[in-house]
Amino acid sequence: MKPLGPIPAGYAALGGVLAVDGTKVTELVEQAGSTPLFVYSSALIRARVASLRAAMPEQLALHYAVKANPFGPVIALLAELVDGFDIASGGELAMVQAAGIAPQRVSFAGPGKRDAEIEAAIAAGVTLNLESEGEASRALAIADRLGLTPRLAIRVNPEFDLKGSGMKMGGGAKPFGVDAARVPALAREVIAAGAEWRGFHIFAGSQALDAGAVIETQAQTLALAAQLARESGAALPHLNLGGGFGIPYFPGDLPIDVTRIGQALAKAFTSLPEELSQTRFCLELGRYLVGEAGVYLTRIVDRKESHGEVFLITDGGLHHQLAASGNFGTVVRRNYPVAIASRFDAPVAEEASVVGCLCTPLDRLADKGGFPRAEAGDLVAVFCAGAYGASASPSAFLGQGPAAELLI
Ligand SMILES: *Cc1c(COP(=O)(O)O)cnc(C)c1O
Repeated sequence: MKPLGPIPAGYAALGGVLAVDGTKVTELVEQAGSTPLFVYSSALIRARVASLRAAMPEQLALHYAVKANPFGPVIALLAELVDGFDIASGGELAMVQAAGIAPQRVSFAGPGKRDAEIEAAIAAGVTLNLESEGEASRALAIADRLGLTPRLAIRVNPEFDLKGSGMKMGGGAKPFGVDAARVPALAREVIAAGAEWRGFHIFAGSQALDAGAVIETQAQTLALAAQLARESGAALPHLNLGGGFGIPYFPGDLPIDVTRIGQALAKAFTSLPEELSQTRFCLELGRYLVGEAGVYLTRIVDRKESHGEVFLITDGGLHHQLAASGNFGTVVRRNYPVAIASRFDAPVAEEASVVGCLCTPLDRLADKGGFPRAEAGDLVAVFCAGAYGASASPSAFLGQGPAAELLI
């Protein structure tokens, strides 16, 4: 048997069935009318934001990276809970606008912004995190044509990366941001052109579980920002410190110690270099805020044996949960937390693989895990489905179409 990932806190059995916020998932599926279904818990999202706020220095603003989960009701809920929103496309801009979020709370990073996206962002008053000198000239020209003052920040490609992070976004040659050495010249140019200067965005990696690595990266980020501000010859109004807080997906993963990070940051804030004494700081987080608050529910359609192995074949699959299948940025396939939701407190009785309904061997949601005996009609839960699930999976593959989504 292969181990399964750790089921996040906050899920319990009710009459033998997995419950989310005190409601059985069988009832939630009935309410939604079909499987597969993503259920997101507003109580778990609220609790996560509250405990994070309690751990972090008060003056640190909290931003949500919309790409983790752009479901409208989730954005609307977070609009009440966080200070800012980081978007990465014109499509996400439209989503935050539809949620009625004030443009002053929004910043737009992402390489390859089209002219039309830059124009929409400037017209709305959203901060652009410039990813290159070329993008800076396009933004300035577009703002000039519109007769508007653009709000501009520079995304810095630092020389360091977040150690142990699942996805490295800084260090060496990267399509993201402007190499640190060229940032002061660009900052001077943008400021001289009359833009509203919004400072730096330094994002060094993602999915880190080691607080020590995050603390080290944040210290490097503060030092780099101070140096670049000095070399730019301008006060730094704002610094986006990045984020990268991970969640435990796999066997042996432990939650990140945000209390330690908050303490280190509070200490750093008491002895900031002169260049950062007037700066406002934010963290931008995606999966840490919403990932563990979501569960993907799919129904077993068939149970079969092949060469002595049991396969539980579901009506869902990698077209909704690409990451759980191991095909979204993982090197070695390991099991996500997966359970038989309709027999949530039953003991392990057999080894089985949970697969999807797609005609590809890649479509495996759990490989040789230990489960209670399950039959066609039972519900399977894939946890950690609140981020990079519905919107980061190829739902058009094999004509399957998207899963239903529900925020409760
Ligand atoms: C993807 C991304 C995030 C969110 O990453 P998480 O791992 O979900 O927290 C934040 N900032 C930037 C710039 C990103 O590209």
